[in-house]
Amino acid sequence: MKCPYCHSFNTKVIDTRRDTRGNVRRRRECKDCTKRFTTVERAILTTPWVIKRDGRREEFDREKVLVGLHTACTRRPIPAETLENIVDKVEYTIRKNGRAEIASHTIGDLVMEELRKVDEVAYIRYATVYLNLSDLEAIRTEIDRLRAQRR
Ligand SMILES: [Zn+2]
Repeated sequence: MKCPYCHSFNTKVIDTRRDTRGNVRRRRECKDCTKRFTTVERAILTTPWVIKRDGRREEFDREKVLVGLHTACTRRPIPAETLENIVDKVEYTIRKNGRAEIASHTIGDLVMEELRKVDEVAYIRYATVYLNLSDLEAIRTEIDRLRAQRR
């Protein structure tokens, strides 16, 4: 590993640990300039192309998913970290299945599934935008479905 300070390759690992996301973090020291730095090692999984409703394809954009979640969760008592975790889970799930393409509605379904466990109001808001629940009847049906599940 190259030292980020002096660019020497003469570095050694002084500590190795696993962070909460399962990545391996190594504390390293440069033998030439004696500075210390940390490297993070993680498996690289490819992200599939997202196929939109109109057939266009785009790269998976976790920021976009996060923005949608934040909008749905406005003024709800949900920590930002919880939303990050939802996106992590969704990203992990779509990468894990290893397909080259994924429909955007599948991503939406995964997000809703996670959001429903966290906050029902935010879930309904997200579903309203996402499922195009434009009429009250469709929203009502979704709420009834939720209520039925809770019994
Ligand atoms: Zn160095």
